[in-house]
Amino acid sequence: MSTSDPKPLKLGLIGYPLEHSLSPVLHSFLMEQVGVLGEYRCYPTPPEQLDKALEQIKAEGLTGFNVTIPYKITILDWLDNTTEEVKLIRAVNTIAIGDGQLLGHNTDIIGFLDSLPQTIKSTLPHRPALLIGAGGAARAIMAALIKCHVPVITLAVRNPEKAMETINLGRKLIRLYNVPSGLGIVDLDTLKNMNNYQLVINATPIGMPNTPESAKESPLSIEQLQTLPEDAYVYDAVYGPEQTTLTHHCKELNISAQDGLSMLVRQAATALGLWSGREISETIIQATQDHLRSHIQTYA
Ligand code: NAP
Repeated sequence: MSTSDPKPLKLGLIGYPLEHSLSPVLHSFLMEQVGVLGEYRCYPTPPEQLDKALEQIKAEGLTGFNVTIPYKITILDWLDNTTEEVKLIRAVNTIAIGDGQLLGHNTDIIGFLDSLPQTIKSTLPHRPALLIGAGGAARAIMAALIKCHVPVITLAVRNPEKAMETINLGRKLIRLYNVPSGLGIVDLDTLKNMNNYQLVINATPIGMPNTPESAKESPLSIEQLQTLPEDAYVYDAVYGPEQTTLTHHCKELNISAQDGLSMLVRQAATALGLWSGREISETIIQATQDHLRSHIQTYA
C-alpha cells in the first residue's frame, strides 16, 4: 500500500448469535470486488454486554458496523444521531462512526426494494400484503411497502400487543407520505385463509438455517399457502442454500417466491457505499450474490 492510499476500512457486525452470519464473507468479497482495503469482524454480543461491546468498537477505531438480530431496534438508545428515515421507523442496520459519534442508518429499506423483480415492484399498489413479524426487518419492509403505495399491510405476529409500536410507526408514515395505505394486525397462530393477500413477506427468523432443525421450519404451512390467490408473490427475508423451507413449499405449489439473499447483498452494498464513498455496480452485486450462494452450499 502506498502512503497516498486511503486508510483500510475497519468494519464489523454486532448481534447475537453470529456463528452463521454470512456478513464477513459478503463484505470481504464486496470490498475485494470494489477495490477497497479493509477488514470485517463479528462482535457476538449478549444483551448484558452491549455497552461494553460498543465501547470496544469505538476504542478499536471502526469506520462503521452493521447491526443485526436482536439489536436493530434497541441499539437506538446508544446512538448519537440517526438519518431522518431512521427517526421515522426506529430501526437501524448500519452505523457510521465519525469523531467517536455513532450515526444510525437503515439500508434494509433500499435493500428490500431493489431486490424485488421489476414485475412485482410495478404492481405493489395493487397487492394487499401480509407481513409476518414486527421487528427491525419488518419495520424497514413496512416503510418500503408504504412508500410504494401498497394498499393494505397486515402484520401477522405472535404478540399483537408488542407489535403495536410498529403499527403506530406505520400509521405515522402513512400520514407523513400522504399515501392511500391501510394497516392491520392478525394473530399468526390463527391465520387460516390468506386469499386476500397478493404479497406475503416473512420478516421473522423462522427458517433461518442456524441448525439443521431450524432450517426445516416455515412461518406458513403448505395448507395455509394453498389458500393464496393465483398471482400471489411470496418473499422470505431469510436465506439459505438454494431455497428456504418457505420458498421450497411455494415451488411445490407453483407460487412465485424468492428468498432474502438479494436483499442481504443489496443492503450490504449500500452500507459499504456509505462507509467507503464508493458506488457499487449491479455487476458486482450479481457476482457477490453468486459467490454467497455457492458459499452457503458449502456451509449448509
Ligand atoms: P427482530 O428485530 O428480533 O424481530 C424478529 C421478529 O420476528 C419479531 O417480531 C419477533 O416476534 C418475530 N419472531 C421471532 N421468532 C418468532 C416465531 N418463532 N414465531 C413468530 N414470530 C417470531 O429481528 P430482525 O432484525 O427483524 O430480523 C428478523 C429476520 O429477518 C432475521 O432472522 C433475518 O433472517 C431476516 N433479515 C434478513 C435481511 C436480509 O437482508 N435478507 C435483513 C434483515 C433481516 P416477538 O417480538 O414476539 O419476539
